[in-house]
Amino acid sequence: MNALVEKWPRKLPGGSTELSVVIPMYNEHEVIPAMYERITTVLARLNVSYELVLVDDGSRDGTPNMIKALAERDTAITAVFLSRNFGKEGALTAGLAHAVGAAVVIMDADLQDPPELIPQMMQEWKKGADVVCMRRRSRRGESWFKRRSAHHFYRLLNAISDVEIPPDTGDFRLLSRKAVYALQQLNERNRYMKGLFAWIGLPTAIIEYDRLPRVAGVTKWDYLSLFNLAFQGITSFSVAPLRVAMAGGAITAFLGVLFTLWIVVKALVLGDPVQGYPSLIAMITILGGVQLLSIGLVGEYVGKTYYETKQRPVYIVRDVMRSGRAAGENTGRSDGKAEQESYHAAA
Ligand code: UDP
Ligand code: MG
Repeated sequence: MNALVEKWPRKLPGGSTELSVVIPMYNEHEVIPAMYERITTVLARLNVSYELVLVDDGSRDGTPNMIKALAERDTAITAVFLSRNFGKEGALTAGLAHAVGAAVVIMDADLQDPPELIPQMMQEWKKGADVVCMRRRSRRGESWFKRRSAHHFYRLLNAISDVEIPPDTGDFRLLSRKAVYALQQLNERNRYMKGLFAWIGLPTAIIEYDRLPRVAGVTKWDYLSLFNLAFQGITSFSVAPLRVAMAGGAITAFLGVLFTLWIVVKALVLGDPVQGYPSLIAMITILGGVQLLSIGLVGEYVGKTYYETKQRPVYIVRDVMRSGRAAGENTGRSDGKAEQESYHAAA
């Protein structure tokens, strides 16, 4: 018995909208014209009813104005403006909540995910896949270090987490309506999307593609934020680090007992008086370090619990623009509560 299927509304929120393309955007004014051009070319050729869900993640450049101008011109655009920068995961969640299509494609604004692959993704979806993952065959334009660290991170994450996260896949993917509903039932605040995508399961198809360099603008990720993301990914989907800390503690304690026995025996049998200020200092600092590290790790999980218990929304919408077609039909947030929005009839 699958409770999820029962919750799944029979009627699609978007009526006849077949495809939604969700694009989170943060300071992307340099790429918007090229992106809009390429995506609409592909979608027009596809010959399906579609919408473009452009999410402005609190950009500080011309992005909101450009989105607004596009939405005023093109009735296929649903524009969602967040109240501030919530991060890509928040922007994506907002986009998914506003998308109404029977299939939803998620992609980056910088054209690193080629929109020309959308027809192929739709084919897999029509064949019955609920999730179509795009796996990067190559990552041109990214440094050797970034490629290697990403590779090892995925291996590590899969080794220790409860769900299988396909390596080298990003957020670029197609989700069926069913998959979107499934995702919306995971209402944790800490949204490590790649993990959530994997967690829902459902029939998944994988398409390989060549990831291209950014068309314009700069990446929003420096190494520190990537490390942070990796750490978030691990601690969101696994308690293995806690077990490592525990195992480390057990091993240290065991070695400590052996060491003590050795010292006692040495003193009693060999009459060797206990000496060694340096070794004492070494032990204290090592043990102190291990303890602080473990406490920090536990703290990380406690902190996560703290954030989760607040039950704050993942994002706040400042404004939504969409043509009359589907207004008001799909305002569910990830936690299912209604959301305050104002609708502007576009064109
Ligand atoms: N993005 C966002 N909010 C953020 C950071 C990024 O919506 O706080 C969007 C960004 O506009 C882009 C996508 O997420 O469409 C991927 O960002 P980026 O290209 O900087 O990441 P990379 O491709 O380098 O991993
Ligand atoms: Mg990018």
